[in-house]
Amino acid sequence: MAPAWPWQKRPELTDGGSGRTLQTLGHGLDRADGGAVPLTIRRNKRAKRLILRADPATGTAVVTCPPWVSDAEAHAFAEKQAGWVHARLASAPKPLPFADGQVIPYLGRPHVIRHRPDARGGVWVEDNGNQGEIHVTGQAEHLPRRLADWLKRDARRRILPCVEDATTALGVTAGRITLRDTKSRWGSCAINGNLNFSWRLVLAPERVLHYVVAHEVAHIREHNHGPRFWALVRDLADDMDACRKWLRDEGSALFLVGPVAD
Ligand SMILES: [Zn+2]
Repeated sequence: MAPAWPWQKRPELTDGGSGRTLQTLGHGLDRADGGAVPLTIRRNKRAKRLILRADPATGTAVVTCPPWVSDAEAHAFAEKQAGWVHARLASAPKPLPFADGQVIPYLGRPHVIRHRPDARGGVWVEDNGNQGEIHVTGQAEHLPRRLADWLKRDARRRILPCVEDATTALGVTAGRITLRDTKSRWGSCAINGNLNFSWRLVLAPERVLHYVVAHEVAHIREHNHGPRFWALVRDLADDMDACRKWLRDEGSALFLVGPVAD
């Protein structure tokens, strides 16, 4: 099926990972227009060779290499493929900052951000059929923060009753529920039942948010991804296959919306 949204092309996401040394070089990859793409060198003990990635979310190039490779070697390696990096960054989906007139997904549908400097009432949504609008009051420089805060509160407001429904259905108790902004996961469940979710789930269709909650709550009972776990999830969210596919195909684009994830 053709992507329904212009931002649904998949960006390449860099992996976070621990135990790695990161270094951003002062001089990046020179562009024809005189600018430079910042280059980050990431040393990884397990790396067997040099790997170059372009990260559209941050507009940077990243070289992953074994610890013994020098800065100069890593830079030369990246420089040789500078053309590929520039082409890739140029054709990649652009970040969608929180700004007046920008279209962002909210509950899986396009919404235009409308700055309303003279209005009162914080943030609210208007829906005129095809395309919704998110109105944000206050000064322009506070718009990104104000909208981000509102989306996080909205995500929480939608996630809490879903957790309530799912825990009741399974007869389990959830611990603390937190919202974070991690690139690596949509949700997680600790061994003590604490649940964590990405606020970006509020950008996805509601059924997808519902599925992720069902998935994490099912982990309170089954701390694994075995057949019994998936049977629990399916009981809670019978459209889970479609939701998982949606996250695989469209999920990474949500990380280009608003502030850059950790
Ligand atoms: Zn899981």
